[in-house]
This record gives sequence, structure tokens and C-alpha cells, in this order.
Amino acid sequence: ATADVGVTGLAVMGANLARNLARHGHTVAVHNRTYARTERLLSEHGSDGEFVPSDSVADFVASLEKPRVAIIMVKAGAGTDAVIEELAAEMEPGDIIVDAGNAHFPDTIRREKALRERGLHFVGSGVSGGEEGALNGPSIMPGGSAESYERLGPILEDISAKVDGVPCCTHVGTDGAGHFVKMVHNGIEYADMQLIAEAYDLLRHGLGASAAEIGAIFETWNSGDLESYLIEITAEVLQHTDAATGKAFVDVVLDQAEQKGTGRWTVQNGLDLGVPITGIAEATFARSLSGGVAQREAGHQTLPARASEWTVTDRDAFIEDVRKALYASKVVAYSQGFDQIAAAAAEYGWDIDRGAMARIWRGGCIIRARFLDRITEAYETRPDLPLLLADPYFTDAVGEGLPSWRRVVAGAATSGIPTPAFSSSLAYYDAVRAERLPAALVQAQRDYFGAHTYKRVDREGTFHTLWSGDRSEEQQD
Ligand code: NDP
Repeated sequence: ATADVGVTGLAVMGANLARNLARHGHTVAVHNRTYARTERLLSEHGSDGEFVPSDSVADFVASLEKPRVAIIMVKAGAGTDAVIEELAAEMEPGDIIVDAGNAHFPDTIRREKALRERGLHFVGSGVSGGEEGALNGPSIMPGGSAESYERLGPILEDISAKVDGVPCCTHVGTDGAGHFVKMVHNGIEYADMQLIAEAYDLLRHGLGASAAEIGAIFETWNSGDLESYLIEITAEVLQHTDAATGKAFVDVVLDQAEQKGTGRWTVQNGLDLGVPITGIAEATFARSLSGGVAQREAGHQTLPARASEWTVTDRDAFIEDVRKALYASKVVAYSQGFDQIAAAAAEYGWDIDRGAMARIWRGGCIIRARFLDRITEAYETRPDLPLLLADPYFTDAVGEGLPSWRRVVAGAATSGIPTPAFSSSLAYYDAVRAERLPAALVQAQRDYFGAHTYKRVDREGTFHTLWSGDRSEEQQD
């Protein structure tokens, strides 16, 4: 046994992760179901460091120093179970199997339990940053036992992205916590992308500007509060010209956004836990709507707009309004995502430090952004903060942008520009700050048709009104 860590599954992500490990001085056992991929890695990138290739799982496991660490990077789904089983059959108690693919967290919980019963450690780990991140430093979100992190942590922290010298990797929590947090990361990514797209659409309609001009606006935004990888790539995409037609690239791309499923999982879980992640949900549904060809065709042909043109008189003030509305909506989406993490921690028995999550998202991953520092600070000051928006820094930042946010959402509605994420984020803000909600009426309706009872603002107890009788009130307990 000569390798201190192994990677099986050498498609783009696994190969790059293996290269990253080798470049950091690790001796990396490498294996892939189809041996040709292993050979290609060695012939093209063998000079990156020390690799120990194997063409069988048994040899791969045998080449690992004990306690063994084997990282799986294969297509998520049934294949993962098969690979885990092959590895587990060759391994010994105390060895660690890491699934670094995009598994759904309930699968990770199930797999961890099954392997724990066999004396093996199973670590479901989120890895974000795409192929570039895998090679040069991703954000890594490992779950699993604290004991396994003692062996694994130094390796993963070593190859993760660093911000101010701090690794973008920490032990998230037990069993499925790492994959859960990666899932929410992706959900937030959906919301962030949709919000940026809505800001672009507003600028395009409001200013009548070209894609490239708007790209330049995003470029300036990238040096302020909004500084982030997604704003940076947006500026580049918008300023890119299609070689074939000479048109703005964004204008030749079919306007249907696809998804691989992590956004959907996040929304489904938000519903399961009863956490209103409206920003993520609107973003996910916006992608679904964009792909609803039949509905869009019918709608486009028949539905009147009865909207008025947006007349922008002060160009700079309008751009600033959109920027502030984008920032405020973004804070809402993150606030909701962190609520979901807190609710999940309570539900699934995880001890998740939300400030640390914001910290490991500062580099390597798709939602890396300057303002994550502020989120870390907010949770460091108050680990049990019930609402990120209510942290003084964010209350001030969002409050300052409120008039802009309201103008933008009202203007979009008047002009018939769809801004589902901007609008629902503002509605969430107004609902969560309201002293009293019309939920009182909903509960009264429930009591009327279903005798679901209600509580009163002025007295303890549970009550029901005899709606079909004399409408007197009965106390239930
Ligand atoms: P793919 O998801 O395309 O998976 C291909 C790899 O999986 C190949 O090595 C393939 O082996 C192997 N594989 C598939 N089925 C089996 C099986 N039944 N038994 C053994 N091996 C199998 O590769 P990616 O590199 O794109 O992604 C790997 C993982 O990383 C996925 O879980 C993905 O969701 C996740 N991920 C991807 C990101 C990205 O940006 N692409 C970002 C973050 C995570 P073979 O060569 O023999 O076909």
C-alpha cells in the first residue's frame, strides 16, 4: 500500500480532483470502471504528481494506506450504490468511503447508516466549483462522523479553495449534513442566477440598452456590495458576441433554462420542513416556466399586456434602483436558505454552524461572494439568529434600498415585466415584518369548513365556532 488517498470515477470532476490531490503532494490511487479513462489521466497529466493506477477495485483498495480513504466521484444515483458496495466488500473497519458526487441527502443518510453498521465510515461530501474548482480548489462540504473528519479533514482542507488563507472546507455535521448543505447552496445559486437575470431584463427594458452595455453595468456592480463570481461571469456573458451571427451571444441562446435537480430537491425539502424559501422556489419555477413551450405559445398568442411603457427619466437613478433591488432580493434568498439549514439541523439532528457555512462558500464555489463575510459575522455575533434579515447590518443595508426595491417591483408590474424573484422577495420581506397577517382569515375559514379550530389573541385555549349552528363559540381545551 503506497497511496494515502484514492479517487474512483475519473470523468472530468474525479480526474481534476485527483490531479488537485497529486499537486498537493498526495500519492493518489486512481481507478475508473473503464480503464481507458485512468490511462488517459496518467498519459495527459501524470506529471502533476504521484498516481497509483489500478484496473480493479480490489487492487485500488489494496493500494491504499490504512485507514483507507477512497473518494467516489461517479454519476450520482444507482451507480453510486454499486460502487460503494464494491469498495465496502474490499475494505476493513475504520476505512473511509467518501461520496463527493451530487447525492441526494436522504440517500447519504441511508448509506452512512448501512456502512456504519459494517464498521466503515461513510462521508457524503458536497463539492462545488465545477471542473475548474475541482482542479484548483473547490468549496468542500463534508458530512459524516467527526472521527472520520480527523483523518479526512486535513486532506480536504489542503485541496480546497482558500480565502485569506482560510480553507473553504469544514466538517458540516453528521451523516447527510454535507450533501444537504451542498443542496441548499445549489438552491441559493438558482435564486441568485434568477435575480441577476431579472435585473438584466429590467435594465434591458427600462434603458433600451444593448446586452453589452448592460454587461458593462454589471462589471461596475462587481466592485461593490454585489461583488461575486455570478455577477462577474454575467458581465462577461453579456459582453460576448456570437461569432456566427455577430449578434449579442445572449440573444442567440434559446430562452429555456434547464436543471439537473438540486433546485427541485431544495424546494421539495423546503415544503417538507415548512420553510418559505420563496426566492429559490420562484427561481426553480421560472426555469420550469421557461421550458413550458405549449403554455408559453398559448400565452404569447392570446394574453393581453395592457401595460404601459417604462419611461426612465434618470438613467443613473434607475440603474441604482435595480442594483439595490437586486441586493435586497439576494439577501432575502440567502436569509431563507440559512433558515432552511437551521430547520434541517433541528429536524435531522445536525449541529450546523451557519456562520461557518457562509465562510466556506466565500471561495471555490459558484455562489462565492464578498457579502458572505457579512453573513459569517452575523452568525458569529449571534449563532441562534432567527432571521438573517434582522441582523443589524442587513436590516440597514436592505432598509436603505427599500424605496428602490419598491419602485422597481411596482414599475415592473405596471410595465408587464415578469420579476417573480424580485417581487416574491419583497412580498416575503413585507410579510415577515408585518405585525399582523391575513393568516387570521385563513385560519377562520379552516374553522368554518373543517372545524379545524383556532386560537385567540386575547385568551389561552383552542376554540371552534359553531358556524352551521347558532355561531356560538366553544372552547376545546
Ligand atoms: P459524470 O456525472 O458524467 O459521471 C461519469 C463517471 O461516472 C465516469 O467515471 C463513469 O465511469 C462513472 N460511472 C457511472 N456509472 C457508474 C457505475 N455504475 N459504476 C462505476 N462507475 C460509474 O461525471 P462528472 O465528472 O461530471 O461528475 C461526477 C460527479 O460529480 C457527479 O455525481 C456529479 O453530479 C458531481 N458534480 C459535478 C459537477 C460538475 O460541474 N460536473 C460539480 C459538482 C459535482 P465510466 O468512465 O466507466 O463510464
